[in-house]
Amino acid sequence: MTEPAVLRDRQHRARDAMTAAGVDALLLSVGADLPYLTGYEAMPLERLTMLVLPRDGEAVLVVPELEAPRVPDTGVCDVRPWPEATDPIARVVDAVGGARTLAVGDRTWSQFTLALQAAMPGSAWVPASTVTAPLREVKDAVEIAALRAAARAVDAVVAEMRERPFAGRTEADVSRELVDRMLAHGHDRPNFAIVGSGPNGASPHHDAGDRVILRGDVVVCDFGGTMAGYCSDITRVFSVGEPSAEIADTYAALAGAQELAVQAAVVGTPLEEVDAVARRALAPAGLADAFIHRIGHGIGLEEHEEPYLVAGNDRPLRAGHAFSIEPGVYFPGRFGMRLEDIVVATDAGPDRLNEATRELASVD
Ligand code: ZN
Ligand code: ZN
Ligand code: ZN
Repeated sequence: MTEPAVLRDRQHRARDAMTAAGVDALLLSVGADLPYLTGYEAMPLERLTMLVLPRDGEAVLVVPELEAPRVPDTGVCDVRPWPEATDPIARVVDAVGGARTLAVGDRTWSQFTLALQAAMPGSAWVPASTVTAPLREVKDAVEIAALRAAARAVDAVVAEMRERPFAGRTEADVSRELVDRMLAHGHDRPNFAIVGSGPNGASPHHDAGDRVILRGDVVVCDFGGTMAGYCSDITRVFSVGEPSAEIADTYAALAGAQELAVQAAVVGTPLEEVDAVARRALAPAGLADAFIHRIGHGIGLEEHEEPYLVAGNDRPLRAGHAFSIEPGVYFPGRFGMRLEDIVVATDAGPDRLNEATRELASVD
């Protein structure tokens, strides 16, 4: 559990950001902003849970009475349970107390946002991420340690999978094994386990299905989960049998591009430049057009969060940014490849959290 002192410091910094942005109150429901500021994660329910964090005054957590026992006793907010068959919207309006500019959590269900807007018609509404994203994207030492532990756990899964047979098994079977192994290595929950074999690997987010993996296939395994609140996310490529020269050469170019992009992830560098470095590296091999997505996303309490490393994002890398570096190349009808590690930008240079070997795996 996050220390109350840390939560209070985050709330303090959120209030400073609200002052700078002209926001009177933050309204947070499901999503990662709420646990970031309170240590409590709301159930995604039709019953409303909502934190009201005013710029001045105490934070109030409006929570269904039956959920209240789950709220950790951190003392960082005034917990106000609402009994079944009463109106939670009225309680939120009461806690807002006439504030005019309201920042509502980006993941809040529209049924609640619309009801709140109807109940407070004179208010201006902005997404809470304008306040919270700049805070959350810079990780502190405890958060980086949690990300590193999650990364090491999936590294261990990769090491085990390199010894496992793939041929003759369905993608779904391999995906289930990835999930089981993430749990065995300490993850609290799996978030995804993509297994794209042969032509299916050309679809970056392919759903593992009933295709049977064959000798000669390239298999893309991209998986991650949540461990002590923080996410893992890793991609490795497995060649079933010895790789052909084309596969080996393509993978070498991809791994070279990823390495250059990791080295480019230096504090002060524009986020889009890390993406551009990999694109330029792939061009001489004729692979730039096959790299059809951005190179990476921030990671933390959520799998995908700020900062995004994508053309057009010219904000500079900051120390404490944690993000994926995951170039991929895709050849529809044939195969695909992606190589992904999590990296933290530090004043001493890029710190790659994943240590699983990036040698192309050759499996049975
Ligand atoms: Zn993805
Ligand atoms: Zn991934
Ligand atoms: Zn990723």
